[in-house]
Amino acid sequence: MPGWVNRRGDYGRRMKNDELVASRCTACRVALEKRGAFLFHTDEGSLIKCVLCAVRHRPMLRRSIRVSLVVGTVLIAINHGDILLRGEWTEGFLWKLGLTYAVPFLVATWGALGSSRLRR
Ligand SMILES: [Zn+2]
Repeated sequence: MPGWVNRRGDYGRRMKNDELVASRCTACRVALEKRGAFLFHTDEGSLIKCVLCAVRHRPMLRRSIRVSLVVGTVLIAINHGDILLRGEWTEGFLWKLGLTYAVPFLVATWGALGSSRLRR
């Protein structure tokens, strides 16, 4: 029996308790030994997802977008506020704007995945 199984053996579906450790992804049903396991707590219960389903976990993505909007806007104000106020928008500046929002999004997502990862 793999290490990722809950005591009742009801892996692969939403569970209301934290005795989980399923052997299959709750979203796509793939065996977690192949892709790793990530635990997410939702209002409906806890979910264990494989890495491909975890990176598409909507609540995590919504949170990462909020973090990106707040942190990215602060960084742009700090680093490029003078350019914004002068209205000197160049093509290179727009590229930097995108990256300034992308970095906090990736960091927030990476952190959420790292903290939700289950180990055997
Ligand atoms: Zn999956």
